[in-house]
Amino acid sequence: MLEGHLHRLCGGRYTLASETVHVRVSGMTARVEREFYQCAKCGDAQRTVEQREAAEQAAVALLRAEHGLLAPKAIRQLREGLGLTHAQVGELLYGVPKGIVEGWERGRYLQNPEADALLRSLENREELERRAAKAGVTLPVPEGVTADGGAPPAPVPDHGVAVEPRASEPGATP
Ligand SMILES: [Zn+2]
Repeated sequence: MLEGHLHRLCGGRYTLASETVHVRVSGMTARVEREFYQCAKCGDAQRTVEQREAAEQAAVALLRAEHGLLAPKAIRQLREGLGLTHAQVGELLYGVPKGIVEGWERGRYLQNPEADALLRSLENREELERRAAKAGVTLPVPEGVTADGGAPPAPVPDHGVAVEPRASEPGATP
C-alpha cells in the first residue's frame, strides 16, 4: 500500500486515484476503472502489480459476461464429462497448447468467442467424433457402451454401396 506514503522527490503524499483504461484480453477489449496512487503535490503516478491484476480480472469478468463465455468451472466440467485430457481438448481445438486449456479452467486465461464456440461444439457427439478423427484424437468409450476392446459397430451401408473414406469428404481441407 502506497496510500499516505511520502514522495521523497517532492515531499508530497500519495493518495488513491482512479483512471479509466482499456484492457486487451485474448483479442477483446474491455473498458474498466483502474486504481493507482498519485502524488497529491506533483502528480507522479505509481501503479502496483495488484492494481494491474485487479483491472485485468475486472476486464475478464466483463468480457466473459459480455460475450457469454463459458466459466472456468464449466470448461472443466465439459472436458471431464467427455473424459478428455487438457492436451486432447487442445488438439480438438486445432492445436491450442494444453497449458492454455489449463489456464482457461483456472481462470488465468480467457478463451475468445471462437474458442468458446469450439468448446461448446464438443458437446455434440457427431461433431466431436468428426473433429477427433481429423485431429487423430482417440476418444474414450462413452459411458453405457461396453469396452470390450472391439471396434464400434460400423453402420451397414445400404445396397452394398461402399462408404467413401472420410478423407474424400468435400471441404475437408481446413
Ligand atoms: Zn510528488
